[in-house]
Amino acid sequence: MKVTSADIVISAVKPDQYPDSALPEFALAGRSNVGKSSFINKLLNRRNLARTSSKPGKTQTLNFFLINEELFFVDVPGYGYAKVSKTEREAWGKMIETYFTSREQLKAVVLITDLRHPPTSDDRMMYDFLKHHGIPCIIIATKADKIPRGKWQKHLKVTKETLEVEKDDPIVLFSSETGEGKDKVWALFQEYMD
Ligand code: GDP
Repeated sequence: MKVTSADIVISAVKPDQYPDSALPEFALAGRSNVGKSSFINKLLNRRNLARTSSKPGKTQTLNFFLINEELFFVDVPGYGYAKVSKTEREAWGKMIETYFTSREQLKAVVLITDLRHPPTSDDRMMYDFLKHHGIPCIIIATKADKIPRGKWQKHLKVTKETLEVEKDDPIVLFSSETGEGKDKVWALFQEYMD
């Protein structure tokens, strides 16, 4: 997709703050520092629209980005940051659960993992949660540029096995450095919107 406009329209914590729009939405989830902001910026050809986080776990809002007046990206605050209090973690859980389970125009959740390492227990929990609620999930294994090409398939296999990925769930190798996987991701989004 050729991105001609991309703007943050609202940071929401509860449903009455979600945009009053029926456009399709894709939520982006992943643990803090996994490369989620870089993924968003790469897809949108922006240098710093989604803020690459100096303080992981800081943003506790759902950030809605309107793209080409056609669809939304919803940036979900990263999880798994140790210094977040129990109260904050619970508020995060409630906010995500409400959004994921009630938003009809949510087409899929994009779960971003790090190709270099096996998915964490938090990644597994997120994937299991999505499966439990029947929410379509696209898995992105990012930072592929940090692994030699010859080892990509081996690492992909570990990602799939650790998450116990269902065979119909797409999984895409990605790199925000090189743009690897970018066209594939847009093609998938297009499929989910049709
Ligand atoms: P977030 O906390 O999930 O939003 O993660 P960021 O996008 O801020 O990325 C965390 C760190 O990983 C930053 O230093 C990024 O430059 C780096 N990073 C993110 N994606 C990639 C990638 O695809 N390749 C490489 N080499 N580094 C990446």
